[in-house]
Amino acid sequence: MEKICVAVRVRPPVKSDEDSNSNCSHWKVDDNRISLHRSLSGTPLPPALSYAFDHVFDQNCSNSSVYDLLTKDIIHAVVDGFNGTAFAYGQTSSGKTFTMNGSENDPGIIHRAVKDIFTKIEMSTDREFLIRVSYMEIYNEEINDLFAVENQKLQIHESLERGIFVAGLREEIVNSAEQVLKLIEMGEVNRHFGETNMNVRSSRSHTIFRMVIESKGKDSTNLDDAIRVSVLNLVDLAGSERIAKTGAGGVRLKEGKHINKSLMILGNVINKLSEGAKQRGHIPYRDSKLTRILQPALGGNAKTSIICTVAPEEVHVEETKGTLQFASRAK
Ligand code: ADP
Ligand code: MG
Repeated sequence: MEKICVAVRVRPPVKSDEDSNSNCSHWKVDDNRISLHRSLSGTPLPPALSYAFDHVFDQNCSNSSVYDLLTKDIIHAVVDGFNGTAFAYGQTSSGKTFTMNGSENDPGIIHRAVKDIFTKIEMSTDREFLIRVSYMEIYNEEINDLFAVENQKLQIHESLERGIFVAGLREEIVNSAEQVLKLIEMGEVNRHFGETNMNVRSSRSHTIFRMVIESKGKDSTNLDDAIRVSVLNLVDLAGSERIAKTGAGGVRLKEGKHINKSLMILGNVINKLSEGAKQRGHIPYRDSKLTRILQPALGGNAKTSIICTVAPEEVHVEETKGTLQFASRAK
């Protein structure tokens, strides 16, 4: 098992007319260290808080550098037959989707990964590839297919032949990056299907974009050359904010409980994985749909990275500390 790569990304402050302090960052970034550096409201400074990670990206950092430092290696390993997973973790509005999906000027990790994979495959002279993609959402511990709105509440199964899989999930065979990006766009539309408030649902569900890459050598006389199958998961997690803060009841409360539980289990799984193989013991993959689905691609000789996104504003300091603690446990 390779070490899990853990990074933090601070988004730029949101400009607001009502709060003149809000366009200042409360966090200071020095190389791979992030520290709470001042109290803008005049309240006493808390004891110095400072955390170090594999990478810390400040507000000026582009998706392009995040991709290069955090996911490029994973993508290349996936084409070579290893499994890989990249997560975006953080409270709602901290920049998870910006990191994963990006903007028109600065495409996100998914876009870059898809392009890179096809470029790498096209350069390969000795192997041929079959690529399948799927896109799913876990909402209230129910799995929904984002490529087919009719595929709701899908179940996880396990068989000798297929291992762990989501039964009924649509997998599209794809031949170009453009085709994949179109499918994702369609998936985004499905994701908001029937929603009055688009942001509400998307911040309360985990989405997993998955590419399965199968390849075999072109030289059929080489019998030692087995078929390779690898899986890449790019995961935009549900918002990690604590529910109490929003004073939620009913549906929101139920959602919040599912989210808190599955993120906690993810934290436990990652924490176990980051311990040495000997101390590890039982890994609780089965305790949530998310970790169960990702089980085959975590552990073993998989490559994993986590980008924890944080909001720089003072009102978010407590949530940011929570995110940095999650990140620290994953190291
Ligand atoms: P989340 O998915 O974590 O809820 P979003 O990615 O939707 O958060 O980000 C919230 C807002 O902040 C969006 O308007 C997004 O475009 C903007 N934003 C987030 N991160 C960055 C960044 N690094 N640079 C510029 N804008 C960002
Ligand atoms: Mg989002």
